[in-house]
Amino acid sequence: MLSVHEARERILSHFQKTATETIPLTVCANRVLGADITAPHDIPLFDNSAMDGFAIRAEDTHASPTTLSVVADIPAGSTPTVTLAPMQAARIMTGAQVPAGANAVIPVEDTDFRHREAGTSAPETISFTKTVKTGDNIRLRGMDMWAGEVVLQTGRVIKPQDLGLLAALGMANVTVHKKARVALLSSGDELLTVDAPLEPGKIRDSNSYTLAAAIENAGADVLRLGVAKDSRDAVTALFDNAVNEDVDLILSSAGVSVGAFDFIKEVIEANGSMNFWRVNMRPGKPLAFGEYRGINFIGLPGNPVSAFVGFEVFVRPVLGRMSGSMDGNSQTVKVRCEEEIESDGRESYLRAKLRSENGVLQAHLTGHQGSGNLLSLVQADALLIIPAGVKCVPAGQEVDAILL
Ligand code: AMP
Ligand code: MG
Repeated sequence: MLSVHEARERILSHFQKTATETIPLTVCANRVLGADITAPHDIPLFDNSAMDGFAIRAEDTHASPTTLSVVADIPAGSTPTVTLAPMQAARIMTGAQVPAGANAVIPVEDTDFRHREAGTSAPETISFTKTVKTGDNIRLRGMDMWAGEVVLQTGRVIKPQDLGLLAALGMANVTVHKKARVALLSSGDELLTVDAPLEPGKIRDSNSYTLAAAIENAGADVLRLGVAKDSRDAVTALFDNAVNEDVDLILSSAGVSVGAFDFIKEVIEANGSMNFWRVNMRPGKPLAFGEYRGINFIGLPGNPVSAFVGFEVFVRPVLGRMSGSMDGNSQTVKVRCEEEIESDGRESYLRAKLRSENGVLQAHLTGHQGSGNLLSLVQADALLIIPAGVKCVPAGQEVDAILL
């Protein structure tokens, strides 16, 4: 049977970054940059005041008496027309362009000008007790970014603060990777939608709700195909819908085990090919990978925890690769087991709650680890990874964990 590592590498080798598209800045948050961003001009674009105060020549604050005549008033957004001569000052607001001749700004708080409320006009003269040095309270042109500097790199997931930077640089449209498109289906005669009345022997389809959200959370778009009944024709019909929609991946849950009504494997083999359908892991051994009419297919197990773990271990990395993101994989951390953990030797993913003690993450299992138990999954902060071949992890030992 394939190891998790081999299975993931085999799957990943069939996927590439999506193409890029150019979209408005307003809808760029959380998308992945498809090209480096180079500043087209300096920021700040002009020397400007970092304070509300008076633009002066620093050397004049060392003169005696230190009374300067105020020859201009420069609000933010205006272009100064004066050139300061010795012993002259200009009232200036934060962000306003520093006039020629000035080399420092003295904050209004350090002057004798007491009228600081909005609407007051500039005084005729100004004096102060403190001195300033050349450059004080002036934000120099290019201090933040230089023209030609690469300020954001391709593959970066765009954060809110990145949008501010892009706006400051005038990027009304941004090149990003296209979202991957995933067709999602559940399979099984027992499955009801969330709003249907319960019937004897039936259960609600929970996987498609978990998986659709997980797909979107990984930055892809989901096409919900619904539930396929346990028949060749029903499964084929839904797969054909996915092909018609030209998706990047068909993702199913259930129907890939060795049950008498598990038709998915058969349908894949009849219309494409199966690369593998079992992985040496727990939960989630019946995990299938293949291709249906030229479209990559991943078949997750049916049990809700197995489906979830299969998604985290195999599908999230695939969506990460397609997204073009530099950091698409699940985040793993080292945690210390608070209890002895037994395993059957398959690579195991165990639900655990974490707590931090003196900076060390301590893990204890969340109740019953059966692959159908959703409550112990939602109570977990992490999936502990017990490597293949390990049958017992003693209390106090460190293991890797995927943070949820
Ligand atoms: P199967 O792989 O079809 O044998 O399914 C394995 C188990 O997962 C069975 O107990 C199914 O009822 C359950 N199961 C399959 N699909 C879903 C689903 N979409 N939501 C919840 N449970 C499911
Ligand atoms: Mg089934």
